Amino acid sequence: MNLYEDAAGEATGIDFMSPEDRLLRPDLEACDECGRMTFWPDGHDEFGGTNSTGRCVACGYERTAEAAEKLALEAEYERYMAKD
Ligand SMILES: [Zn+2]
Repeated sequence: MNLYEDAAGEATGIDFMSPEDRLLRPDLEACDECGRMTFWPDGHDEFGGTNSTGRCVACGYERTAEAAEKLALEAEYERYMAKD
């Protein structure tokens, strides 16, 4: 855990959530912009991944719905290609 990630736990409220709420929210991920593990996805994409809209609590980067959809499709394509 670095300082940014510690702060992210507080900024997002993750640290204070009940275990039930935590199960419904994805974990922090690497930010598309700054690379820190401080990007918080809003939820899950249509393929069950976490390429949803969201926001980085360190740099303020916000993933738009269009960017999220592109990432989700790319991830799904990679999963598909890795099958055989
Ligand atoms: Zn960031």
